[in-house]
Amino acid sequence: MPKSLSFHAIISTMQPQRHAMIDFQQRRDQVGQKVLHELKKRRAPSDFVISLLPSVPLAEHICTDCAYVGIPDRKKKGKDLVEVMLWAVFALCAALYVVTRGLHLITHYHFPGEIVRLCSLFAKLFLAFSVVYTLWQSSTEYKACPKCGNTAIIPLDSPRGQKLLKEQQRG
Ligand SMILES: [Zn+2]
Repeated sequence: MPKSLSFHAIISTMQPQRHAMIDFQQRRDQVGQKVLHELKKRRAPSDFVISLLPSVPLAEHICTDCAYVGIPDRKKKGKDLVEVMLWAVFALCAALYVVTRGLHLITHYHFPGEIVRLCSLFAKLFLAFSVVYTLWQSSTEYKACPKCGNTAIIPLDSPRGQKLLKEQQRG
């Protein structure tokens, strides 16, 4: 049958393309995973901001939930990855602005100025977002129990802390 033959012929010619497509998708996913992994490894800008702020060493605390006694963990709200991504997008927009502005000048204003202005606008927008996010994130530092993650962790030398400690020693 010529009809099914031609169908098979089409399928067999498509096969290598399909493989190439799957290969491409797999490689793209791998690259995506790698980029995400690298981004996750970067220190969030707010970590750097916090390291610059004067911080008193934390005294011993007691956890009201699991009665853990020791130095609590410093935690902050928000996602570090989001923060790093925002700064990455800003860097990209800033780089695009520099490139398009260069093109605009080199081509004697034949390269559309609207694109240059758009890149400039996005760079400014993302700079604002990134700064706000970093400041917000570094302002949300809170203490948490390193053992159970409970945020109701109180200073050991407070009256309630002393009471809890005595209760725990008795129990
Ligand atoms: Zn705890």
